[in-house]
This record gives sequence, C-alpha cells and structure tokens, in this order.
Amino acid sequence: MALTVVGSVAFDSIATPFGEHQRVLGGSAVHFSLAASFFAQVRLVGVVGDDFGEAERAVLKRRGIDIRDLEVVPGGETFFWRGHYDYDLNTAKTLETHLNVFADFEPKLSEASRSSEALFLGNIQPELQRRVREQCPNASFSALDSMNYWIENDRDSVVAAIGLVDAALLNDAEVRELTGEPNLCRAARRIREWGPSLVVVKQGEYGAALFSEDGFFSLPAYPLENVVDPTGAGDSFAGGFVGFLAAHAPGELTEELLRAAVVYGSTLASFNVEEFGTERVSRLTFPEIEKRFAEFRRMTHFEHVDLPRLVG
Ligand code: AMP
Repeated sequence: MALTVVGSVAFDSIATPFGEHQRVLGGSAVHFSLAASFFAQVRLVGVVGDDFGEAERAVLKRRGIDIRDLEVVPGGETFFWRGHYDYDLNTAKTLETHLNVFADFEPKLSEASRSSEALFLGNIQPELQRRVREQCPNASFSALDSMNYWIENDRDSVVAAIGLVDAALLNDAEVRELTGEPNLCRAARRIREWGPSLVVVKQGEYGAALFSEDGFFSLPAYPLENVVDPTGAGDSFAGGFVGFLAAHAPGELTEELLRAAVVYGSTLASFNVEEFGTERVSRLTFPEIEKRFAEFRRMTHFEHVDLPRLVG
C-alpha cells in the first residue's frame, strides 16, 4: 500500500546532555518516512535547497522512499532547526528556526502521490495540510500532526484541518492547549467531535494513549536505559502507527489492528531516541522491530490471579 507524507525536511543542530550534533538530517517528513518505510511504500512531499546533498538523499533512497516530489529550490537553503534538551528530555527548547525554502512551500503532488491509499499531514502550516488533504481524495486513511506554534497562531485552521482526517496525533501539551481542557479524556473526546474517529495522545517517556470509538488503549514507552536524542520521536511514532495502518488500508480498522499500530509506533519511536538524528532508524532491520514488538507484548501482559482469602 502507498502512503503519502507531507512535512518538513530539515537540517537539525541538536544538543542534549549526551552530546551535540550539527546539521544532521531531520524534519518531520524525514523521521516519519524512515519509520513508515518498514510497512508501506512511502512517497515524500517536501522542499529543500541545493545544500541538500546526495548523502541525505541516499538515506531516504536506501529505505525505498519515493522522493520524486521532494522539490529543490535552486540557490535556496533547506529548513534549519536548532534545539536543545536538558535532562528532562521530554521538552525541546527551540533556539533557532530558519524557514528558508520552507517559507514559500507550496506542496506539489504528482499523480502517484495523489493516488496513495493513505496520507500523513506532518507538521506544516495547517492551511497547507488542508490543501494537501483535498488533493488526495483516494486516501482511505489520513492522519495529522501539529505543534504549539500553529495552535497558538492559527488555532481555527488547525481545528479545520483536524476535521478532515481520520486520526489526530498530538502530544499531551498540544491536546490541552488546543482544547483548553486539562483532562486528557475529555480533551480527546472534544477533538473526536471535530471529525477524527481516532485521537492519539503522545506522552513522551510516559508512552502513548489511543482514544477511539470502542474506548481506550494505553502503552508505556519502552524502558530504555540509553535515551540520547528525542528529536523526531513523535514523527517516528507517527510513521510506525500510520505506516502499519496504511499496510492494512482500506480494510476495517479493528481495535486489534489499532492496538498493534500503537505498539509499532512506540517501537519505532524507541529506536529513534537511541542515537542522534536519523542514525538509528536508518540502519534498523525488521527483525529488530519484531523483537521489540514481542518484548512490548511480554512487558504489558498480565493475568488474573486469585486472591488468597482476605480478612473482611
Ligand atoms: P518531533 O518528532 O516533534 O521531535 O519533531 C522533530 C522535527 O521537527 C525536527 O527534525 C525538526 O526539524 C522539525 N521541526 C522543528 N520545528 C519545526 C517547524 N516549525 N515546522 C516544521 N518542522 C519543525
């Protein structure tokens, strides 16, 4: 099954308590595509400058990602983000954002990208997300991510874009900010009333929760002892989650499939944070994914145990 993604393609300079890396390959569409490429034929729609070289393209091509809709602006510079994390790795502090070619981005979709069965609208201006959604009428499953910047500056457009997709994937702070509702259950219900049948609330090191028609599923994050760089964890989660569901499109999204998708999302996110940038996911193998999926299963399994006779 084919899956089109639109989002940022970036160079990131990242500092965490475990090291510093300059101008590594990043961006929401890149992290998403690498993770999703284990499950579906990914078609990436984005924009770069001519500083985006063969080495960066090779990372995407090695995973079979179709980059024919990665527009190159001659003489332009690729989107650049500089971020910093303290020991609380859940919150990135943005130090610099240079939109560069991303400022005038007008997504142009080839016939192939328009015809995909699934669509992911990564973190870009909500109005652009809306236009891309309208260009992909064949997508039987669509999902979206956003960020605090758009929620604070263009909330109505974010709500309108959410109304066009099947699944909204947001982190807990974004969900609260968007709805003005501190309780996550009530906030997720409100977002579902705007249109999407699924809401996934990402909670960083505390895991992820899925709110759906049939109820609720929650999974802890994989207990890693070496978290090095959380950049892209949310997009890698989305790649695993949407990629797995795209592989099953246009079939019925059963609760069983949705739960497995949350586990694949969490699995991909857990690998992403083990090293800087795209390093770990770009050399990941499917057997490694399956092994961690099985560990998640063991880790979260429990049975009914009869109580000994209690007093009272
Ligand atoms: P996350 O999965 O939330 O950690 O996303 C990290 C990625 O988002 C980084 O690789 C950045 O290049 C990218 N990013 C940061 N700020 C923005 C922005 N304003 N618009 C689009 N992408 C961004």
